[in-house]
Amino acid sequence: MIQNASEANRIVIKVGTSTLAHKTGLMNIQRVEKLVKVLSDLKNAGREIILVSSGAIGVGVGKMGLKERPTDTPAKQACAAIGQCELMYCYDKYFSEYNHTVAQVLLTRDIVDSPNRKDNVINTFQNLLHMGVIPVVNENDTVSVEEIEFGDNDTLSAIVGALTGADLLVILTDIDGVYDENPRVNPAAKMIPRIPAITDEVRALAGGNGTGLGTGGMITKISAAQIGLEAGFPTVIMNGARPDALYDLMDGKQIGTFIG
Ligand code: GLU
Repeated sequence: MIQNASEANRIVIKVGTSTLAHKTGLMNIQRVEKLVKVLSDLKNAGREIILVSSGAIGVGVGKMGLKERPTDTPAKQACAAIGQCELMYCYDKYFSEYNHTVAQVLLTRDIVDSPNRKDNVINTFQNLLHMGVIPVVNENDTVSVEEIEFGDNDTLSAIVGALTGADLLVILTDIDGVYDENPRVNPAAKMIPRIPAITDEVRALAGGNGTGLGTGGMITKISAAQIGLEAGFPTVIMNGARPDALYDLMDGKQIGTFIG
């Protein structure tokens, strides 16, 4: 397993709704443009990029002008169908500006248990990466009821990392990393730069939940990092507000929390 992000060749980057969208649910255009620019540049430098993007439901909610995220499953599924289309339109448009091709990969949790489906997914990823394409992955929310009820893209991103033999998972979120206490409650809380293993103590640090538009929280990120460690790759949890920080991370600087 690599000991520093700079050693990674194949990287899964997970970006959450709170990073991609404003509180209104509408796309944070500046953020998405910057993120795409940095990822395009990392790819130009020879790294392989797989983007796991949330935001389908949140952006669907924003696009339809709904006051809040719906709570019933059919309405969430409808919003996901609307938002996923908008997301891919933006990724396609922005990555094209840097001469990169994207592919939409929508997955359901059953791929993990069905060998046949799993092989198909692995083969698709291998072919896309071989062709130099950037896969953009999300849960297939419109067919996957359980994914909407219990699913989260932190877990999905770790599973994608395991299926693709990734060297590194980077989870971009709205906080700088894992803290020793909740920094939103205690301003003196300190960020932990490195966590070598997921212990009960680490899990206890990660209580609570995220924003109104996404579904994750720190605990799902820690669980994702655990899947990563079992599959042989580390996870970095870092703030997605400044996508440029990814350059520093890949240059080997200390950014966010490195779990591994
Ligand atoms: N798949 C959901 C979406 O794209 C998000 C899941 C999550 O936020 O973890 O809206």
